[in-house]
Amino acid sequence: MKAALMYGPNDIRIEDIETPKCPSDGLLINVRAIGLCGSDIRNLTTDSRQGKYPHIFGHEIVGEIVEVGEAVEGYEKKENIYVYPATHCMHCEHCRSGHHEMCEEGSKYTDRMGGFADYYVVTGKQLASDSVFKIPEDKDLKAATLAEPLSSVYACQDNIHVGFGDTVVIIGAGPIGCFHIQLARLRGAETIIMVELNETRLELSKRFGADYYINGSQVDAVEEVLKITDGKGADKVISANPSTQAQNQAIYMCRKNGIVVWFGGVAKGAMAQIDSNRVHYYGIWIYGHFGANSIQVEQAFKLALSEKFDASKFITHVLPLSKINEGIQLTRSGEAIKVVLIPNEEVNKDLL
Ligand SMILES: [Zn+2]
Ligand SMILES: [Zn+2]
Repeated sequence: MKAALMYGPNDIRIEDIETPKCPSDGLLINVRAIGLCGSDIRNLTTDSRQGKYPHIFGHEIVGEIVEVGEAVEGYEKKENIYVYPATHCMHCEHCRSGHHEMCEEGSKYTDRMGGFADYYVVTGKQLASDSVFKIPEDKDLKAATLAEPLSSVYACQDNIHVGFGDTVVIIGAGPIGCFHIQLARLRGAETIIMVELNETRLELSKRFGADYYINGSQVDAVEEVLKITDGKGADKVISANPSTQAQNQAIYMCRKNGIVVWFGGVAKGAMAQIDSNRVHYYGIWIYGHFGANSIQVEQAFKLALSEKFDASKFITHVLPLSKINEGIQLTRSGEAIKVVLIPNEEVNKDLL
């Protein structure tokens, strides 16, 4: 089979490798479609595995079952499935308290071979945990790849109760920021303000219909947010970008007793300078968000496939897996919101 092998930072080669065998307790799937995620790009362009190459990344996986292990029940060939990358053990204290996203096991999925390949093995462990979801026949397989990135956005807004009457600021118009606009609208937020430094990205995000769009490289974004909110600040400010400055700006955009979310990860070891007095006297809640619990993963999957959620607005580019490098460029420059890759080009040409 063909796979996109990473040999080092920015060194991704499409090569022929042996097709993996279906384990007796698992499944072998033809990867029908796979999303290219910001975290994939970070992993593919830095020395993410400290010399341990080659490796296959890719975790927003949708595929068709081509082989069912003899010990597996409840799955059939030709069924389409969405595979959530993390497996939750359901036994550790985090899982038992409903915080599956903190499961020690869940964070290690990048150690396994991923889905940037024609075929992918779903292990017995994945089947035994809450990671595999069947996709109903009439549903869009490319839309299903959005379930994974949507899951953490869904969880975030669920946890901070974005809702009717809220003013929400989102800093960062990447795919995650765009999901935040769409979801805040669905949840009934009254005023949605998007702040972004890259004009191309800001323009693209206009299709999601936030109420205000601010280019933070041209105007003082904090001043603008205060103008819009009559000097009060927003109820909820979500920093969905890799900048520590934005994390601090979020605090000045937040109203008294409001909530600031640090959603996006920043460079390893980066320190944020924070006006802690402002946090103190304004009674601001700072909430670090990561991942999604098991139920939220499922709810996000259902939402990604529902009529209410317009997946085609997010998926700006569909490319064969062989063009993964092009996909990375398009995402980095801000020209693409979400790139979906199609492996196994011959077999999956109906999706290209
Ligand atoms: Zn992802
Ligand atoms: Zn656990």
